[in-house]
Amino acid sequence: MAVSRTFSIIKPDATAGNLTGAINKVIEDGGLRIIAQRRIRMTQVQAERFYAMHAERPFFGELVEFMTSGPVVVQVLQGENAVPRYRKIMGATNPAEADEGTIRKLFAKSIGENSAHGSDSDENAAIEIAQFFSEGDIVG
Ligand code: GDP
Repeated sequence: MAVSRTFSIIKPDATAGNLTGAINKVIEDGGLRIIAQRRIRMTQVQAERFYAMHAERPFFGELVEFMTSGPVVVQVLQGENAVPRYRKIMGATNPAEADEGTIRKLFAKSIGENSAHGSDSDENAAIEIAQFFSEGDIVG
């Protein structure tokens, strides 16, 4: 199986709960390696750009407000089939529907404040990684 990369964000509800280490353990136990990581406060411009595909959705304003409401941890994860693997580790968007042991089941509060982001395709992973990291920041 091919080793690939995905982009992850530990969202503000999780950093507020001091859960970065707990979430990183679930990521690592799930077979992914954290090959870049930085804690930042996302600007409005960064959040609007990052979620531009959701601009027409009714929750867009709420989503941008939430993502800029506190620190986030942006990460690059590497492993076999990293994109689908991390989606599985995160669990369903709505924590009420997430499988046992997933990040969202373990830690998330609601469909909006759902603790983690993970890319949905290899193509989007590359785009999202480039929004927050240069190649020199990523040590695989
Ligand atoms: P994901 O790929 O599992 O993160 O889900 P989506 O791409 O469908 O949505 C992106 C993000 O928008 C989710 O992770 C949530 O933080 C947020 N979101 C999705 N649906 C809702 C909703 O109904 N209400 C609110 N407030 N936020 C939502």
